[in-house]
Amino acid sequence: MSISQLSRKNIQALTPYQSARRLGGKGDIWLNANEYPTSPDFNLTNRTFNRYPEPQPQAVIEGYANYAGVQPENVLVSRGGDESIELIIRAFCETEDSVLYCPPTYGMYAVSAETCGIALKTVPLTTDFQLNLPEIERNLAGVKVVFVCSPNNPTGTLVNRADLLALLEMTRGKAIVVIDEAYIEFCPQATMISELKNYPHLAIIRTLSKAFALAGLRCGFTLANKALIDVLQKVIAPYPLPVPVADIAAQALQTEGLKAMQKRVKEILQNRTALQVELSKLACVEKIFASDGNYLLVKFKDGPKIFKALWDQGIILRNQHSALMLENCIRITIGSQKENEKLVTLIK
Ligand SMILES: *Cc1c(COP(=O)(O)O)cnc(C)c1O
Repeated sequence: MSISQLSRKNIQALTPYQSARRLGGKGDIWLNANEYPTSPDFNLTNRTFNRYPEPQPQAVIEGYANYAGVQPENVLVSRGGDESIELIIRAFCETEDSVLYCPPTYGMYAVSAETCGIALKTVPLTTDFQLNLPEIERNLAGVKVVFVCSPNNPTGTLVNRADLLALLEMTRGKAIVVIDEAYIEFCPQATMISELKNYPHLAIIRTLSKAFALAGLRCGFTLANKALIDVLQKVIAPYPLPVPVADIAAQALQTEGLKAMQKRVKEILQNRTALQVELSKLACVEKIFASDGNYLLVKFKDGPKIFKALWDQGIILRNQHSALMLENCIRITIGSQKENEKLVTLIK
């Protein structure tokens, strides 16, 4: 048998996550991964590279708990928010269970479930990108984990709070509800953190990759009640965070780091409005969806043509043409003012 045939059948069948980096492109303007356009600067203060790191570095846990307004026992730090997705599936799903999610949304829920050999159930969002609660309820049998992304990637929409609460009610005692708040810093009032006290089966995913401008660090968080965090602690790798990552993450979560993050958010929101105004003047643009994230979903008359033309000119965007309900749509990360201006000029 070939090496590939020796691998598990679900892995043989797996289409890996098409990350922005994996898709390649030769660009000088990268607006395809919802990154911040420039890097913050940090010095390493801990150089004990000969020793294993703390399994859950105290300064990072306390820093994040403090920032999020929860107790340290409610926080798990992991190798990006992506690791949290897989940990939850691995810890909660038996082989006969399934994972439910609502496309169009983040691709990693499906990839992680498939990697673990867990069946997928999809209940598409409604045409206004909200939860189809009756359909979710009809499909809940055997579902152990439900993923909801809010603000949703790639649509930019917030899921109605009342719907999230209804979902939490209908899953109580049956399934874990994961609310992915990777972009919550761009609309902090919408966080579901205050509901942790009411719902033991709620898990919230966070990351330093977006508003904190630290995608290269690979640092994310799960926020939940202690009993749920304790389950994830059992399956997480012994030392998930390298010493330099913990060092920089702890610094990013101190007062100065938080101020810098809030300043970036303000700037991105201004640039988002400006880009929206400019794009709306273009004849090739059919619709710009309202966004609560650091990106805009834009429907063009001919999306693939625009995507290809910009790709050839070194402006790399995220094509959504083949995503459910997103024909001719492109997700555009908000770049620097200069990058956004160049983007508009080239589309023209
Ligand atoms: C970026 C992102 C994440 C997590 O990213 P990491 O870099 O792994 O922390 C999680 N969910 C969504 C929807 C994202 O866009």
